[in-house]
Amino acid sequence: MSFRATVLTLYPEMFPGPLGLSLAGTALKNGLWELDTVQIRDFATDKHKSVDDTPAGGGAGMVLRCDILAAALDAVADTRPMLAMTPRGAPLSQARARDLASGAGAIILCGRFEGFDERIFEARPVEPVSIGDYVLSGGELAAMVLLDTCVRLLPGVMGAASSGEEESFETGLLEYPHYTRPVDWEGRTIPEVLRSGDHAKIAAWRHEMALRDTRLRRPDLTLRHGGASQAPPSGAQRDNEGKMK
Ligand code: SAH
Repeated sequence: MSFRATVLTLYPEMFPGPLGLSLAGTALKNGLWELDTVQIRDFATDKHKSVDDTPAGGGAGMVLRCDILAAALDAVADTRPMLAMTPRGAPLSQARARDLASGAGAIILCGRFEGFDERIFEARPVEPVSIGDYVLSGGELAAMVLLDTCVRLLPGVMGAASSGEEESFETGLLEYPHYTRPVDWEGRTIPEVLRSGDHAKIAAWRHEMALRDTRLRRPDLTLRHGGASQAPPSGAQRDNEGKMK
């Protein structure tokens, strides 16, 4: 059974969009995952096909109606987790993506305007998911981000060699920096160690660089990694202290 995504949106024509190209697109064509969309407006009940109404309590914008959202969700509900894209959700993580990728897929609700009537989260098992601390104009791009991160983890999507296990966040750290030819570019050379052919030394250097960049750029991750800024946990890193510059 392949990973199946059902996206509930007011803009189904946005899909597959970028998910129809490159890695995710090839996987879609090869049947490694499936994507279908549902037009939320099809579940409107009045003659104007309205899906939203003004916010209770006043204020700007419009709110997606819970009765319409529930009808759309109920029409596609099965055993897959139901997610709603919202900046008020728990931040998407690599761990959550791995977890989703190991399952049957997801039903994903995309918001517009001011977002969803809150009662949808009480009345249906919908998990609010955010892709970061900023506000988009709609949930479609967020759903694509979520799907892209899941799809590349599906068996057979990435080459066997790149299982992604060393990538950023998989180890609680950012990944080490990469280099490729030309060896000399504008007077800058690829670090000597990467050309040494010494795999242990290369692994140690990469770990050191991952720690350095995580400390510099993402001190929040370093803390979560168990205070690596004070006490680097790796024996390999200590063994090579001072030699890896
Ligand atoms: N009024 C809301 C924002 C609405 S933005 C608030 O302040 O929380 C409109 C829609 O875009 C949302 O319903 C959601 O589906 C999507 N969206 C915006 N930012 C997002 C984010 N960071 N993560 C996931 N979805 C987001």
